[in-house]
Amino acid sequence: GCNGNGAAAAAGVVPEIKFTKLFINGEFVDAVSGKTFETRDPRTGAVLAHVAEADKADVDLGVKAARDAFDHGKWPRMSGYERGRLLSKFADLVDQHTEELAALDGADAGKLLLVGKVIDVPSATQMLRYYAGAADKIHGEVLRVSGKYQGYSLREPVGVAGVIIPWNFPTMMFFLKVSPALAAGCTVVVKPAEQTPLSALYYAHLAKLAGVPDGVINVVPGFGHTAGAAITSHMDVDTVAFTGSTEVGRLIMESAARSNLKPVSLELGGKSPLIIFDDADVDMAVNLSRLAIFFNKGEICAAGSRVYVQEGIYDEFVKKAVEAAQNWKVGDPFDVTTNMGPQVDKEQFEKVLKYIEHGKSEGATLLTGGKPAAAKGYYIEPTIFVDVTIAQEEIFGPVMALMKFKTVDEVIEKANCTRYGLVAGIVTKSLDVANRVSRAVRAGTVWVNCYFVFDPDAPFGGFKMSGFGQDQGLGAMDKFLQVKSVITAL
Ligand code: NAD
Repeated sequence: GCNGNGAAAAAGVVPEIKFTKLFINGEFVDAVSGKTFETRDPRTGAVLAHVAEADKADVDLGVKAARDAFDHGKWPRMSGYERGRLLSKFADLVDQHTEELAALDGADAGKLLLVGKVIDVPSATQMLRYYAGAADKIHGEVLRVSGKYQGYSLREPVGVAGVIIPWNFPTMMFFLKVSPALAAGCTVVVKPAEQTPLSALYYAHLAKLAGVPDGVINVVPGFGHTAGAAITSHMDVDTVAFTGSTEVGRLIMESAARSNLKPVSLELGGKSPLIIFDDADVDMAVNLSRLAIFFNKGEICAAGSRVYVQEGIYDEFVKKAVEAAQNWKVGDPFDVTTNMGPQVDKEQFEKVLKYIEHGKSEGATLLTGGKPAAAKGYYIEPTIFVDVTIAQEEIFGPVMALMKFKTVDEVIEKANCTRYGLVAGIVTKSLDVANRVSRAVRAGTVWVNCYFVFDPDAPFGGFKMSGFGQDQGLGAMDKFLQVKSVITAL
């Protein structure tokens, strides 16, 4: 439960909220319509702030600012070195506000304050610095043109990038997309998720303080079917970088196709397998599986939601996994002893509970959890099911489906038996098994004897219906660049 004394005391902590307006052309402004929407604190369900609600008219203004900054402004024209310097300064300012930003995401998204301070914000600035360092290393090629010609290619920024991101990692998602876009010389219009609009506005403010010119970063909080759709259908947006659900990814591609055929990159959902072989250290494997599904309350695209355990250690594993789940403390995310905060909002809370009921009615056996973990707020107990026959839909909550397998061939087939292909985890001491399974699973990232190891230099993206287009790594800049061939007669 989350009624411990520490949790009750910490529940009062609400950070000061400084920025609630749209950020367009370097200024905080009200929505044209004057409308606002509520963002809530998932610990209590109370309103945290009223945020200006962008609509089509506001997106038009944001895109116009980004267009002008791209077509006529300094940003794409300055040297890569100069852009990189400003981005490094931006990173320094973010670091200086780590505590405040972690608290903002904590209150807006129910994320652990401590994790925000040691993981989310530092990883975001690491990402920003990685691309700041790449801004002056964007090369074309010398072309081997036949005949009396010479040729070279240039890689130029694509223009105005629309960025649409989800609520589960408001800080990391912002920098995952915005850092390579800015380093490439693009200008951006960012629509944060309606559940978590606050930190993105703060980042826009810090970018301005760092000296990023007006119009280069615009932030338009609002809803998907209005503000989001206005970005994806806009004739002056040159590319869209999206992270979110597979369902919305499909809408975004349709909208891009119907407007100006802008390219899109989609980082979508997952139903990722974590495969544990007989030779694994059971305690280590149990800890990894707990992290894989209960970290960030299971609200992670890369969650290890399907856990396959080989028959020789299955019974021991199940017993220990249940104990581990019961020791995973649910409570106020501002309490340092808490392992898991509340689901992001009422809708997600109810959706996860519905999936749990559905699992029961389908004949799966509930071993632990399955209920709200507190009388108020959106807390859910860490939940484990066994005897799961179909585990195909992404729940996006703290629900593990544990399944038994016999052979390597069998588990490879089961692991691949979903429309998703985001990540896979493998726990084994056998190099042969690790190599074989790593190559056979159809997933964009494979973690062997580890989980959730993200690095700016490690490409991240989906296979199959988990999407396409790379995040992280130097290749993530490709979606914000286009190639021009220049051929000159000799
Ligand atoms: P969502 O798709 O509902 O929303 C994501 C964003 O899209 C939000 O900003 C939303 O306002 C916007 N949006 C909604 N409808 C839109 C429309 N018609 N046009 C344009 N924009 C629209 O997803 P969510 O519920 O916020 O996030 C959960 C999903 O995101 C899960 O499926 C999860 O797997 C996925 N996710 C994927 C990754 C990844 O890297 N692959 C990372 C995090 C989350």
